[in-house]
Amino acid sequence: MIDIILDNDHSSRYIEEILGRAGLAWRRADLGNLGETLVLVGDGSLDAGQRDTITGFVNDGGALVVTGGTWGLDTPLGATGSAGGEGYISTGSPAHAITDDLHSSLHVFSGSVLRATDGTSIATLLDATRESSLGDAVVVNRVGEGATVVIGPNLPQSVLHIQLGRSIHEDGEPAPDDTAAIDEGILKTDDGVVLSWEHDRVQSPVPEPIPADTLGLHENYPDGDTPWFAWPIADELRAILLRAIAWAEAEAGIAQASVAAWPRGLAAVGLISHDSDGNLDAGAHSTLAVMDRAGIKSTWCHIWAPTNQSEYDPQTFRLIEDAGHEIALHYNSLDMNGGTWGREHLRTQAATVAKEAGVSGFTSNKNHYLRWEGLVDFFYWLEDEGIQADQCKGPSKKGNVGFPHGSNQPWFPLDPETGEFIDVLEIPLQFQDLWLTALPYQGKVTIGEAIRRNGVAHFLFHQAHIHTKPGVVDALLDTVSYGRDQGLEWWTSKQINDWERARRTVKVDVLENGSAVAIESAADLSGVGVIVSWPEGREIPQVATLGDQVAKVSGIVYAGQPAIAFNLDVTPGSAVIALS
Ligand SMILES: [Zn+2]
Repeated sequence: MIDIILDNDHSSRYIEEILGRAGLAWRRADLGNLGETLVLVGDGSLDAGQRDTITGFVNDGGALVVTGGTWGLDTPLGATGSAGGEGYISTGSPAHAITDDLHSSLHVFSGSVLRATDGTSIATLLDATRESSLGDAVVVNRVGEGATVVIGPNLPQSVLHIQLGRSIHEDGEPAPDDTAAIDEGILKTDDGVVLSWEHDRVQSPVPEPIPADTLGLHENYPDGDTPWFAWPIADELRAILLRAIAWAEAEAGIAQASVAAWPRGLAAVGLISHDSDGNLDAGAHSTLAVMDRAGIKSTWCHIWAPTNQSEYDPQTFRLIEDAGHEIALHYNSLDMNGGTWGREHLRTQAATVAKEAGVSGFTSNKNHYLRWEGLVDFFYWLEDEGIQADQCKGPSKKGNVGFPHGSNQPWFPLDPETGEFIDVLEIPLQFQDLWLTALPYQGKVTIGEAIRRNGVAHFLFHQAHIHTKPGVVDALLDTVSYGRDQGLEWWTSKQINDWERARRTVKVDVLENGSAVAIESAADLSGVGVIVSWPEGREIPQVATLGDQVAKVSGIVYAGQPAIAFNLDVTPGSAVIALS
């Protein structure tokens, strides 16, 4: 259980989402009744008595992690802080357990600049040009029986800002190398991207022959190395925070339990979605056949568009459903296709498409052209409409594929105006039609990142392109089999949504003697992974026992620290897992 204290900035509350996604249980701290791990977010103030309490807590063996400022705890943190802003974390070498194995630019947007005093700096903060050092970014310290980590940048705030982007009222700035002309007059999610064309994209080596006839090359980069958002920056910022907690706990000898992202030890899942656009029935049949060859279930986003010349035969929807695929909504607010942006239009289209498809409603939606306006309005519309999952945060040009919104995690948005979460699960999209708008190798890099961050590798393939372009079909089939070889399972958007919501009702907590874990759940779930940090050298238990289930225990590395893991079926209620 992690205790948290937040400053008054609404966005600092995003720590709750980061901990929730990581399967860690948390509560608002009561300084009179602290547990073993305390996390402070933002740059709030504490009175002298509160500072003494926290300093004593660390001295007595607590783990303290602070991100965004020092809260006047300069002495135990071994660092001082001053106002900071946008910049880049530079991890240097040799890497520390907290900063090891990160390869993105680590772009941050708010918080403090640190100066290490008694503590040890393990990362510096570069300015917004990424050229000069402003000071220290991460400082670690040992105090009495406990340990501290202070991260100058406000990581929850930066993660939220990268994922949400800026409020969209006009076109974004196009890429200076002409690879991403997002200023085409259509407002869509990538107009709100806050990452830098210059510093946050990379040109990656091309590890395989480029398909001879591919349209995925950009004319300015004929060797296939078009700059792209190859690394999920927000996910790496999350990783720094989670590893900081794990490191401080390991130093202080504290055991922490968490719920794994996916069941049965899966590192990641993949998602193939389709957008029906012209509603060409023959395209649906081609896609059904290709997905049958691929042997997976996919998510079919279906559009209402008065400009369409064709529509699906009603029987086609039954074939899609009978094959186990998900029928989802493809909301159309593109003027040239007869759509309009607006709450009422979403309602009308959802009702029309549901009737046409013969379904009672939708779990998932993706907007035609990834249309978007404002910041979080559309999330509220979906919540109001009862649509639980969205797929709009993605790229539309060759030069912004990958992670323009920094993440492959399924995430819940927070409204920075109100500080309230919105009950819609965003499942970000990384590519539209590999072979046509990007090279197939880029999809493989992305699958690697999904595995590294326990996220979702999400690929959109339009039925129209599957129907007419063999190169797109080959890329789809190759991507699916590569993912499977890497240990991915391919799920629908609904499966991801349902799993994530149910998984987040599962809470685990190490019981004091370290030989048992308390578990509670509101859902019936099979193969739930439980991870418990486990000091190096301590004998690893052989089995975890829950009722009449006996699960094998394995040693793993998690959040940069040694841990044990096991999988169990979970039923609603509370129970205790014995480790022996
Ligand atoms: Zn579309």
